[in-house]
Amino acid sequence: MPLYLPHFNLQNYNTLASPVCADFFVVVKDEADLHAALKFAKERDLPLLVLGGGSNIVLHDDFPGLVIHVQIFGKELVREDDEFYYVKAAAGENWSDFVDYCLDENYFGLENLSLIPGSVGAAPIQNIGAYGVELKDVFSELTALDVKSGLTITFTHEACQFGYRDSVFKNALLDQFIITSVTFKLTKQPNLKIYYPALQSALADHQPLDVTPELVGQIVSDIRRSKLPDPKLTPNVGSFFKNPLISTGKLAELQLRYPQIVYYPVDDNFVKVAAGWLIDKVGWRGYQQDAAVHAQQALVLTNPNRLKGAAVLVLAASIKASIMKEFGIDLEQEPRNYP
Ligand code: FAD
Ligand code: NAP
Repeated sequence: MPLYLPHFNLQNYNTLASPVCADFFVVVKDEADLHAALKFAKERDLPLLVLGGGSNIVLHDDFPGLVIHVQIFGKELVREDDEFYYVKAAAGENWSDFVDYCLDENYFGLENLSLIPGSVGAAPIQNIGAYGVELKDVFSELTALDVKSGLTITFTHEACQFGYRDSVFKNALLDQFIITSVTFKLTKQPNLKIYYPALQSALADHQPLDVTPELVGQIVSDIRRSKLPDPKLTPNVGSFFKNPLISTGKLAELQLRYPQIVYYPVDDNFVKVAAGWLIDKVGWRGYQQDAAVHAQQALVLTNPNRLKGAAVLVLAASIKASIMKEFGIDLEQEPRNYP
């Protein structure tokens, strides 16, 4: 029987260290706990917040509902064929530990996604990505509990409708499913993707034969440690905005004023602009009032004073307005706001 803790301070359960309270907080360790928690919420008509590592949410104020902290653990090799290992992990597993485990077992494909905070269960929600690899590239299927019916459903790759930091769980099926496990399709042979400039230059001193998935994982971790603030020391939620997609026409117009603008082709009609470059260009990097803009990467907003998330949202709104004014680009926030 899970324990429902009333008036629970969430400060240690979100990487922005926002000191807000939930009406109720419960840890679920298996599917039976999850069913019980859903019943508890339904009987009291409480809104739900499904919580993993709290590294992609902004808690701007107290949450008037039930926070379900998913702590369902377990991982197993479910099958293999000539090319692939199919590895299943429960939603509560720590993502970064799972990546390390797979590398230790010679299950390849997750190396570029090393050291991303959070849980396995949250990874499909925004189709996590880094250094040219996204979760969708290594995804086989997931299981999720339907909040309304209580039934467990299997979602195929197609059913998840993965997009750039996006999935069906952020859109048509928002708040309708709780992910309980994810199965990954990992290769037996290394298939390295090391074309991001930061990776390329860090690997430049290594002989091609020495470049293994383990090494790539280590180097990704090293770069991340050097560039990103450790949430335990400097609270943050990683990139605060998505990199915007703009038309090639709009790019040409901006290039007249900003020949140095950093962008990457997406297709014949669209390019992805580095949001960090835009924010830096307007002069926000290193800014600090109640909330701050990280000095090494302007896309990361921090909450050094451990204030409620509202403080970060005030800064984010000013940044968003200045980017619209300067470039005519509407930045989209990546982490989700609660309540
Ligand atoms: P939470 O913040 O707990 O939840 C995020 C959302 O998912 C919420 O809406 C929540 O309700 C929902 N959710 C969580 N678990 C479940 C579940 N089991 N079922 C249904 N819904 C659920 N992201 C990247 O994509 N790439 C990066 O490189 C990256 N780097 C980061 C670096 C830092 C320093 C930080 C702080 C964040 C970074 N992020 C990155 C963002 C974040 O780590 C990911 O989005 C991660 O997947 C969030 O996991 P979480 O368990 O903390 O999710
Ligand atoms: P970076 O390497 O300085 O690059 C800046 C931006 O340019 C990145 O956002 C990346 O887009 C894009 N980019 C760089 N090289 C590219 C290429 N060859 N092709 C296409 N796009 C390219 O970025 P960073 O801030 O240090 O982050 C490194 C990686 O970690 C990125 O993939 C980033 O998304 C990821 N990351 C994500 C978060 C988060 O919270 N979401 C936080 C930290 C780091 P993409 O973002 O689309 O990859």
